[in-house]
Amino acid sequence: MEPQRSPLLEVRGNVELKRPLVKAPSRLPLPGTRFKRGPDRMEDALEPEKKRTRGLDTVTKIATSHPRPPALTVRPQTQSQTTVAPKVPKKTGPRCSTAIGTVLKNQKPGPAVPTQKPGAAAPPMLGGKKPIKRPAWDLKGQLCDLNAELKCCRERTQTLNQENQQLQDQLKEAQQQARALGAECRTLEGELARVQAQAKQGQQELGNLRARVLELEEQLGTQQGLVQELQKEQVGLQEERRGLAARLEEQERRLQASEAALSGSQAEVASLRQEAATQATLLVAQGERLHGLEMERRRLHNQLQELKGNIRVFCRVRPVLPGEPTPSPGFLLFPSGPGGPSDPPTRLSVSRSDERRGTLSGTPAPTTRHDFSFDRVFPPGSGQDQVFEEIAMLVQSALDGYPVCIFAYGQTGSGKTFTMEGGPGGDPQVEGLIPRALRHLFSVAQELGGQGWTYSFVASYVEIYNETVRDLLATGTRKGQGGECEIRRAGPGSEELTVTNARYVPVSCEKEVEALLQLAHQNRAVARTSQNERSSRSHSVFQLQISGEHAGRGLQCAAPLSLVDLAGSERLDPGLTLGPGERERLRETQAINSSLSTLGLVIMALSNKESHVPYRNSKLTYLLQNSLGGSAKMLMFVNISPLEENVSESLNSLRFASKVNQCVIGTAQANRK
Ligand code: ADP
Ligand code: MG
Repeated sequence: MEPQRSPLLEVRGNVELKRPLVKAPSRLPLPGTRFKRGPDRMEDALEPEKKRTRGLDTVTKIATSHPRPPALTVRPQTQSQTTVAPKVPKKTGPRCSTAIGTVLKNQKPGPAVPTQKPGAAAPPMLGGKKPIKRPAWDLKGQLCDLNAELKCCRERTQTLNQENQQLQDQLKEAQQQARALGAECRTLEGELARVQAQAKQGQQELGNLRARVLELEEQLGTQQGLVQELQKEQVGLQEERRGLAARLEEQERRLQASEAALSGSQAEVASLRQEAATQATLLVAQGERLHGLEMERRRLHNQLQELKGNIRVFCRVRPVLPGEPTPSPGFLLFPSGPGGPSDPPTRLSVSRSDERRGTLSGTPAPTTRHDFSFDRVFPPGSGQDQVFEEIAMLVQSALDGYPVCIFAYGQTGSGKTFTMEGGPGGDPQVEGLIPRALRHLFSVAQELGGQGWTYSFVASYVEIYNETVRDLLATGTRKGQGGECEIRRAGPGSEELTVTNARYVPVSCEKEVEALLQLAHQNRAVARTSQNERSSRSHSVFQLQISGEHAGRGLQCAAPLSLVDLAGSERLDPGLTLGPGERERLRETQAINSSLSTLGLVIMALSNKESHVPYRNSKLTYLLQNSLGGSAKMLMFVNISPLEENVSESLNSLRFASKVNQCVIGTAQANRK
């Protein structure tokens, strides 16, 4: 049998075994203290707990491996144990109390121990022997037992005190450790806070840096795009540069060639300059010669015109118009000249049947042939251009300073207006003499401009009806009203005549002349009445004052060109009964006849070199006096109707024209100053 150990020894054994256990809690973290360290530290921190648990296990094992102490028979022993035990937790803290509590729990008496009734002291058990039950009388024995027990208790108390002391030391040590750990913990917390702050700041910085990185990446992207563009541009520029370099090379080559050529040219220029100087001298000499030739030309031209006659007569027969009766063959004949058909015709034969003689004798009416000869005869097919060709040289005389006057004479409907102004519709083919003459003058004046001549032209257009003068270029309020105009001398002692209230319009181109002719046409239309075609009962006088100047030689020339569409030359039928309309017509006719016969008389007087020329007998001759006479050149168109019914008037016209044609007016003098 195993000797029974005393309970004190057992406790002691337990305490010895527990020692590491008691120390272990001192290394545990204090309640409420939390480590925020890495897993290593946490492991270290947990280690003592594990050890403690293991220790407890060991304790439990050890405690349970020992036989349970026998039930104490002495109550005070248990009480002394319990009085000591509660003091420990107070000094060692909750962990120690738990550990000790665990120990004390393990020391609980087993259920096998019978509970002693109070007051019944158990007989002492000495030397592992069953307590000897002392008889009541054995007081000494009992005292001896008690002393032994007291001694035992004292020993136990002493042991417990020692143990207590040790535990307190341990406690102090643990508290110191706890304080150190607390300080360490605070330091770590501070460090942690600092690290956290640093981390926060770092995160902020990181955020900023990320944003900055993004920004920089964006910038980088842009810059890369730019770089790419620039690279492309660079490539393009390099290409361009190569092209330019090639061009430059080419240009330089050309420049060299040009320089070589230039030096050659300079030499050439020098020689050319010399030549030019020679040429200039020659040119001056040529200019002189040219001027001499021009003057000679004018003289010869004038001589030619004079040889042709200062008054010439052209006969023009208009064609038969649609709707008019075709004349019998042989009515009008145009015999060829001495040179054959190639010669321009100058003769006209009119066959007239003498119906009276024929009727009286009962035989076919005999025809009488009337032959006329003029400077030129234009058969019906002649165009306006052909006609103008013949008068172009005459018109040009006006530029040389010779007054020129062209008349159209004939009965109404014979083609006077057609000849002077042109046909209807503005067809250039049928343009009359006035526009053609002006165009010719403008063009020749321009040519003469090359020789130093400058020309100016002033146009006027009037009509003389019943011995009153009316401006055909009137505009505005005077338009069509026929405000009377007077023919006056331009100034006292002046040869020049002017029509008061009439417009004198400077012209320099065809368009301006066209506009004037159009205006004259409108003005005539306004004045037209139902009873009478006034245009055929009046003389239309288009005048162009031509002034030329050669500033270099101080030469001047001035002359009028007059283009006159005379009133119808027909006479009034003597058998006509005179109503009020006819009386008016008679007056008109008388005025016309008077002015036409005055014209004839003036031409005769001029031809006969009479001292008195009756210009003043009619407004027409008065107005035209400067275009007739000695220094003037005259041309009369005698317009003839191709119709047989007009034969009488045709013969009258032809006779009048023949008379004029026989006139020779003295040598023309150019109006030179
Ligand atoms: P006048 O002025 O003598 O009275 P016009 O010039 O008015 O006569 O002519 C009368 C008509 O005859 C007009 O219709 C005109 O167009 C026409 N006429 C005149 N001459 C010619 C011609 N040479 N060729 C074609 N038609 C003409
Ligand atoms: Mg007419």
